[in-house]
Amino acid sequence: MSLANGRTYLAIPGPSVVPDAVLRAMHRASPNIYEGELIDMMPGLKADLRRVARTEHHVAIYMGNGHAAWEAALSNVISQGDLVLVPSTGRFCEGWGEMAEALGASVELLDFGMKSPMDADAIEARLRADTEHKIQAVLAVHVDTSTSIKSDVAAVRAALDAAGHPALLMADCIASLGCDRFEMDAWGVDVMVTASQKGLMLTPGLGMVFFNDRAAEVRATMTRVSRYWDWTPRAHPEHFFQYFGGTAPTHHLYGLRVSLDMMMAEGMETIWTRHEKLASAIWAACEAWGQGGPLSLNVEKRAHRSFAVTALRLGGPDGTRLRRWSEHQAGVTLGIGLGMSEPDDPKGDGFLRIGHMGHVNAHMVLGTLASIQAGFDALDLPYGAGALDMAAKALAS
Ligand SMILES: *Cc1c(COP(=O)(O)O)cnc(C)c1O
Repeated sequence: MSLANGRTYLAIPGPSVVPDAVLRAMHRASPNIYEGELIDMMPGLKADLRRVARTEHHVAIYMGNGHAAWEAALSNVISQGDLVLVPSTGRFCEGWGEMAEALGASVELLDFGMKSPMDADAIEARLRADTEHKIQAVLAVHVDTSTSIKSDVAAVRAALDAAGHPALLMADCIASLGCDRFEMDAWGVDVMVTASQKGLMLTPGLGMVFFNDRAAEVRATMTRVSRYWDWTPRAHPEHFFQYFGGTAPTHHLYGLRVSLDMMMAEGMETIWTRHEKLASAIWAACEAWGQGGPLSLNVEKRAHRSFAVTALRLGGPDGTRLRRWSEHQAGVTLGIGLGMSEPDDPKGDGFLRIGHMGHVNAHMVLGTLASIQAGFDALDLPYGAGALDMAAKALAS
């Protein structure tokens, strides 16, 4: 017998839960891509995307996942041989850097480890030392999904300004957008990348690159940009996929229209507060479990934890055992410990993650936490008492 029969819940940090209304909007006959509804809805869709990113500037939409958005952004402003600075707080920071390297950039990693956020002072010191301004861009991942560390992107801008350095500030908000507060213009971010399948509550398949006028100026100085990744025609208000990028991602755009409607109705401030509240309940439970067992939160300080994802350490083979129990016996799929390992656990079986991004509410979080606790009991893993009470209290407060 399995207690998993019923509606399953994918509680991994992307892809996230797709609301039924979004799925319904995608379940339709193929639309005309040359005129009519789809074309007419694009200006409003882009305007709402800007509202989510808190920017007045440009947005280009690509068919592709987050990796595509990474490459798209880099392709527009990074040339062969350019130096790129990558402050690293986990696997996704390294990954974006590796992509820049594969495109011919020379990449310098500033490694902040897997437990603490970027240190803006160290970034400033490195920028000051670059007296010839060789660094073309700083690639800052807002929330590294592997470690669940949230870094202060505005502080990275302050470091650039304090050092008087002209490098572009490029942010990866793939995990954080629509979950953790992010303000592109107020924080002085020049380029921001995101994707559809996390806080935007859509299926995987859309990558988005936001860029300001400074980044557009840098793009204009590039001698060669891949035709497909070039953001200039895609951001042009009157040009659409049929002229420059090939067939539009029709059904994704209909889904995105509905997910943006939901986000506009809820309001960005409320969305961020909801995510914070739900995350607090998860942290409260994890802290209580940790009082009497091996579970620990990867990030110690609350201010450095993301509202979208929580990385946990259980040790031994137990992260994997718990994930399997939870999926097969409770219908809740937890995230693997991506990019995390220890000398005696090279595959990272001791780690796991809970995704709490996008279309997530109190009962989903409480159900996940109670399922985890049932898993501890079923697997005979020790844990501290009172975790579910703490989670309920965090939500009720
Ligand atoms: C998910 C994620 C990516 C990669 O996105 P894909 O759609 O899997 O290519 C990159 N960066 C961050 C921070 C992410 O959370």
